[in-house]
Amino acid sequence: MGTISKILGVVLTAGGALILTYGMDPNAGSLSFILFIVGLVVMSVGFSLLTAGRKKKEVKPTLPTVTEIRCNGCDFKEIRDYEKGDYILKPLEANCPKCSGKMTIEGVYVVREEPEKDRF
Ligand SMILES: [Zn+2]
Repeated sequence: MGTISKILGVVLTAGGALILTYGMDPNAGSLSFILFIVGLVVMSVGFSLLTAGRKKKEVKPTLPTVTEIRCNGCDFKEIRDYEKGDYILKPLEANCPKCSGKMTIEGVYVVREEPEKDRF
């Protein structure tokens, strides 16, 4: 999907630049102004497509997220990697390894790569 929009962005930017060049030709007459505007619009659309594709790539590497699980029956606590669909207070199907009681997600945290987390 990203590749298609990128190719489209390159094509539109190049096409817009070409139209712009035609628009700047003094022999084109009254049409040159329209071509100039059209070229600018097409170019800006192409550019925005290119930058949008770039932005998406930057967002992709998500921060490591962990899920904190707590047993309802005892003081058992576990922290595991976040899984899709995890949310706070979600009842889990898995039972507590200590007392076989029901477990609930108590928190979902984003792990920040800071030296501060060493204090835990
Ligand atoms: Zn338990």
